[in-house]
Amino acid sequence: MPWLHEAWQSLQKRLAENRLPHALLVTGERGVGKRMFADGLAALLICEQPASDSDNGHQPCGVCKQCELVSAGTHPDIRIYTPEKSRMIKVDQVRALSSFAVSSPQVGQRKIAIIDRADQLNINSANALLKTLEEPSDDVVLILLQESGRPVLPTIRSRCQNLLIAIPDGDAAARWLAAEVMKLDEADQPSAELCGKALALSGNAPRLAYEYLTSDFLTQRDQALAQFRQFMKGQLTVGEAAKPFKAMGLEGALWLFEGWAADLARITAGGSPRDTDAADMLGYLAKFNPPWRAHQILALIHEARSAGVYNVNPELEAVRLLIAWQDLMPRKRASA
Ligand SMILES: [Zn+2]
Repeated sequence: MPWLHEAWQSLQKRLAENRLPHALLVTGERGVGKRMFADGLAALLICEQPASDSDNGHQPCGVCKQCELVSAGTHPDIRIYTPEKSRMIKVDQVRALSSFAVSSPQVGQRKIAIIDRADQLNINSANALLKTLEEPSDDVVLILLQESGRPVLPTIRSRCQNLLIAIPDGDAAARWLAAEVMKLDEADQPSAELCGKALALSGNAPRLAYEYLTSDFLTQRDQALAQFRQFMKGQLTVGEAAKPFKAMGLEGALWLFEGWAADLARITAGGSPRDTDAADMLGYLAKFNPPWRAHQILALIHEARSAGVYNVNPELEAVRLLIAWQDLMPRKRASA
């Protein structure tokens, strides 16, 4: 993934200067490849004899005992902490991390803990993590991942070195995606047109576009958009319109609504939308609404996302947002 190169190089430099931090906070857009980056770094740090070449700097050798365990996904000194059923990383998980951090490595020289993601630590979990961040043992490296735009508590952030992974340009993203889908079975390979659509919808985040292409997301999204459109025209009840959003789960639904609201904000500001399929509807709404109305919808989405911590009902949230969207329709059309 060539766009990770710069971040990788910057890290190599810190490694070479022996400035590798105990805690690294890796920030980037959804689907840009943060987790791949963290996995790659963990593999490098655990390898017994990293190989080095002038193009890529240090890389795991791929053949030592450590590398074998890593590629089998069973290395006991690498642990991943990610939200399980709830949307947040629980305090019990952080306690497990803390005891992992102070235990001796089982087979490697050091231990790596990946927190995927640090913006999904609740207050209690974050507080529990502070002690480990403040008094780290020498043989542990914590890699925290953060999605851009999602806050991480300042007490956590200030104890980490930061590293930003930037979104690649369109060509680089398209090249990577084209090469990745070639690895799929021939029958599963999406068309170039579909790849283009996935990239546009993901805002050029390559991993996210790949996820779109290899899941039901694009189909679900087309259906959600079709019903959303009908609802806005008053041809469908809010309950019916909410169904496809409910089917994709709260996070997926909020992500879609957020994309459309951001597009509406772009159009009202004279820019062009990412989601060209929804462009006509959003363009129509932009004629009747000042920019702050789009930001009002965005605020509602952020509210719903924070409330997501408490396991709100995705259907109710979809209904609430659909009604807010319908308020943007000119009055005579909404009542027609
Ligand atoms: Zn190795």
